[in-house]
Amino acid sequence: MIKIMAVNAGSSSLKFQLLEMPEEKLITSGIVERIGLKHSVFTIKLNGEKKEETLDIPNHGVAVNILLNKLIELKIIASYDEISGVGHRVVHGGSEISKSIVLNEKEIEYLESIVDLAPLHLGPNLIGIKAFKVILPNVKHVGVFDTAFHHTMPEESFLYAVPWDWYEKFQVRKYGFHGTSHKYVSDRCAEIMRKKPEEINVIVCHIGNGASICAVKQGRSVDTSMGFTPLDGIPMGTRSGSIDPAVVEFMMNKKNKKVKEITNLLNKQSGYIGLSGLSSDSRDLVEASKNGNHRAQLAIDVQAKRIADYIASYYVYMGGADAIIFTAGIGENAKSTRSNIIERVSILGAKIDEERNDCRGVERLISTDDSKLKVYLIPTNEEVMIARDTLSLL
Ligand code: AMP
Repeated sequence: MIKIMAVNAGSSSLKFQLLEMPEEKLITSGIVERIGLKHSVFTIKLNGEKKEETLDIPNHGVAVNILLNKLIELKIIASYDEISGVGHRVVHGGSEISKSIVLNEKEIEYLESIVDLAPLHLGPNLIGIKAFKVILPNVKHVGVFDTAFHHTMPEESFLYAVPWDWYEKFQVRKYGFHGTSHKYVSDRCAEIMRKKPEEINVIVCHIGNGASICAVKQGRSVDTSMGFTPLDGIPMGTRSGSIDPAVVEFMMNKKNKKVKEITNLLNKQSGYIGLSGLSSDSRDLVEASKNGNHRAQLAIDVQAKRIADYIASYYVYMGGADAIIFTAGIGENAKSTRSNIIERVSILGAKIDEERNDCRGVERLISTDDSKLKVYLIPTNEEVMIARDTLSLL
């Protein structure tokens, strides 16, 4: 029996899942939160039961130690040796990494050299990788990259029309994110449709707090809405998505703010929260809009319109599509948002079946039988993808 740990390290958190492979069976999962702050919280789920403990966890190294010792204490593993490999979710692989790889010295050095492409996420990812490597030095550590799936985008999709040296010298281009999720659900969709990924074109709507749309042509990403950073594309919980770049200088002057402060507002005070003035959480907006809150409805509609724009554009770009897929927190749970979006692309032949659509978090066809363009809800599972790639590299 092979046990693989799938890890997602953030600046103050560390999410983990232990999976039995190749069965893809979840053994346990959990999260360490508030690492480096007072009263860190360690949560572990086992057999449907959640255990929570408040501890002082000063850094990621201590978090990893506590986590592994907890697995032994709860008799989930008898010793560290039972873990055959660790798969790390890594936000960015720059322009060089196009698939999952074993993380040795050289690979880690490369990742360190591109930290400024995603300082808020890649830095913490590296801290997590190093902490695990110190404590589990004899197993393979595999990096699974959010950007890797999008490496198949053609130049016409990933290049920005900016001075050439921005791309050549500074690697300014579209990278795209959520690749692991886009790949998982598009492969799964092919399975459900009893086709090979190469036989279908799909448009994936990964709509969570962060959100991106992806054109998957014959199993390969050919375009996606996030760009150089995850700020681009459609409006999200707190991010603006694409705006006219000239707004940045204009608002700097109006508000007497620095570039960094404006970027921060675009990342943290825009999207749902910016438009609604109410919340970044889709549940609050759905509820408020039901009660007649105009700005909550506007926030939902602005996002839905932009998603429909992407769907239409990708449909044309791929020369047609077989299915639209909804996934992630909002895509999996918010039925009204799904119908709002599909109504806007009815011209493409997509028709929602409201009875089928009345569901949450299940794998299901939600379009009518006569819908030319099928619509699926497919819950994402990035951890399984991480474990699969790790297993294949062991
Ligand atoms: P994620 O980033 O994928 O975890 O997604 C988080 C988003 O999913 C938040 O905006 C949540 O409000 C949203 N979400 C979760 N459950 C529901 C629900 N039942 N209805 C609407 N949105 C939901």
